[in-house]
Amino acid sequence: MIPAAKPIIGDEEREAVDRVLRSGMLAQGPEVKAFEEEFSAHVGGRHCVAMNSGTSALHLGFIAAGIKPGDEVIVPSFSFAATANSVVLAGGVPIFADIDPKTFNMDPDHAQSLITKKTKAIMPVHLYGHIAAMDRYEEMAAKHGLHLIEDAAQGHLASLNGRNSGEFGIVASFSFYPTKNMTAGEGGMVVTDNAEVARTLRLLRNQGQEIRYQNEIIGFNTRMTDIHAAIGRVQLAKLPGWTKQRQENAAYLDANLKGVITPYLAPGTTHSYHQYTIRIPGGDAAKRDAFMSKIGEKGVGSGVYYPTPIHRLPSFKLDLNLPETELVIKECLSLPVHPSLTKDELKTIVEVVNEVAATL
Ligand SMILES: *Cc1c(COP(=O)(O)O)cnc(C)c1O
Repeated sequence: MIPAAKPIIGDEEREAVDRVLRSGMLAQGPEVKAFEEEFSAHVGGRHCVAMNSGTSALHLGFIAAGIKPGDEVIVPSFSFAATANSVVLAGGVPIFADIDPKTFNMDPDHAQSLITKKTKAIMPVHLYGHIAAMDRYEEMAAKHGLHLIEDAAQGHLASLNGRNSGEFGIVASFSFYPTKNMTAGEGGMVVTDNAEVARTLRLLRNQGQEIRYQNEIIGFNTRMTDIHAAIGRVQLAKLPGWTKQRQENAAYLDANLKGVITPYLAPGTTHSYHQYTIRIPGGDAAKRDAFMSKIGEKGVGSGVYYPTPIHRLPSFKLDLNLPETELVIKECLSLPVHPSLTKDELKTIVEVVNEVAATL
């Protein structure tokens, strides 16, 4: 079976972990600092603050950006639950917008229509590695006096007009969960161009203290360990090459798949293909599910990200009308695109998908 996702862990990661274990200093220290500095080079030299997860990065990012109880934050419903959970954890209220079915990302026009007096921030998600319409959101945020925040958990090295994800919002949050384009085991990174916000994030992550036992504010413990940072540093060095490989794999699939809707690339963007997501037209989830089990029987793994929009999860249970989200949720599935795919595996994916698509 060709798996839908596959973390790549090699000798360098093992040696890096061993180096930290031998040093005897395991908690946040020099590896975390070096990881932050190295990450900064990929986000226009912005401040970087490492966390123990992408969810912590989002949560503390909202607090540091000044989200207060009752503030509304516009987010897409077609995303991972952490996108909206983190708004609620910071005391805010997620307002769910529909998507543009071409890019799978939040629809800027619908997001704009949801702005009220209570709106404090807009947080697009760079879903599957396709950067959101950040030029539109920058304009909107400036016009309405809102914070622009990026959920870049899936957006490592995705870009728009030469600017990488992480270079747009007052804060942007990345994830290093094992299935993401690079991993630290677990982990996250908050990126900001604001020195004051960066300092607040460093305080929030460490019990509100910069100097030990001189706690300035109420904080959390969401520190990253040096063990995780050591893995992250090795993976970060490999990320540009892996991203290029994902793009080449995607280009091969784009050129050869037939009978399915392949991913769209908006003008001016580079896609980092966290997922390679296709659509089975017809708005029929049973047809999509049958397609997935047939390609699975022939050895091609796939996944649905996400089978339920966030607003309909038991944790939110909201009755909203988001027609494009509801349509795409029935049609989408993600095929393997990870950088360790061989030429033979890519050929197999094309043969199997085209064969099954021809019987639809
Ligand atoms: C993975 C992910 C997160 C959360 O990151 P964790 O590191 O798993 O906490 C948040 N938002 C999106 C869109 C994600 O894909």
